[in-house]
Amino acid sequence: MSVIVEAFDESNWAGSSLQFSHASGRSVTVRSGDATVQLIALFAGRALEQCPNLKDDNLCGIYEERPLVCRIYPMEINPFIPLVKEKKACPPEAWQSDDVICTDGRADSTMEALIHQSRQADRDDAATKVAICAALGLNVAGWKDDALVVYFPERARLLEAIDRAGDGSALASETQWRVRVDKPSLRNRLTHAAIELADNEPAHYIFHEL
Ligand code: SF4
Repeated sequence: MSVIVEAFDESNWAGSSLQFSHASGRSVTVRSGDATVQLIALFAGRALEQCPNLKDDNLCGIYEERPLVCRIYPMEINPFIPLVKEKKACPPEAWQSDDVICTDGRADSTMEALIHQSRQADRDDAATKVAICAALGLNVAGWKDDALVVYFPERARLLEAIDRAGDGSALASETQWRVRVDKPSLRNRLTHAAIELADNEPAHYIFHEL
């Protein structure tokens, strides 16, 4: 499992107000220095080559219990990511069916309900996921759209942190977060906003500038 933590705030937001509203809805307000920032924690399976649930016959081994993200595929949880089939891993024959997945920006009603459920779960779980990060001792985030900060917690520690996190409200608000930014111009901007920055030094996470 990898954990990606990203921070942002309204005064440094470059996108539209609708995009800010969407991002805020799936974030938690946390302290950083003398400021507050919005924080999003993303938990992603480490299925870099293929999903461990994919069987030798190329069928899903947990099809009836597969997660929401699989049920809405190839649609996106993020409404601002367009469906571009060239960017999907589907084989060409998957796009040759006559089934209509989406038209005029709307999916069919079953798919639409699943997408709604998926987005709501994303919002409902925001505080718990940040609290799990706090229970793991993570306190450095990347700045949204500037860089990724990625952690790879051990499975046993992650399970213990999930137990400790509870509903997330207390742990999420207690942690003082720092932001890892290497670009001098952005560092200056965030410093002026009283946001605490992490040092540019070797760390226990992967730092990947976008
Ligand atoms: S549907 Fe989801 S869980 Fe099943 S094999 Fe595909 S990626 Fe894995």
